[in-house]
Amino acid sequence: METPEFVNRNDMYGQMAEPIIYERCPEILANGISVGFVGSNKKKTKNKVKVVHGECKKVPSLYKIFCPYDFLIIIYEENCAGFTDEQMEILLWHELLHIGIDDKGNAYLKDHDVEDFDEIIRKHGLHWSV
Ligand SMILES: [Zn+2]
Repeated sequence: METPEFVNRNDMYGQMAEPIIYERCPEILANGISVGFVGSNKKKTKNKVKVVHGECKKVPSLYKIFCPYDFLIIIYEENCAGFTDEQMEILLWHELLHIGIDDKGNAYLKDHDVEDFDEIIRKHGLHWSV
């Protein structure tokens, strides 16, 4: 039998993420937003070169009929092989930060604050443009 591409990892990443949500993303709890955690064996890349470690996806309202979560966080486990617990916690925090909440309490998929090149950040820091 073929190994499934996605598996439920609520028991693993969900547990690791619990204190992160409590301490650093309490607005997720305050707004009753539910997050499911998924593991994948897919060696996902972006633009064929950039290794993707994780992803946060908003569950479309239609899918909520069958999926009891507002967001799914997918961890590409093959791409995270050798990660320390600390690195995994940073990754989970990163993915949780993609959950944005607007003034009306509606959750949305939030984009990164920072997009730049490593060379620029090393030489000029994160805030060179402001
Ligand atoms: Zn991200």
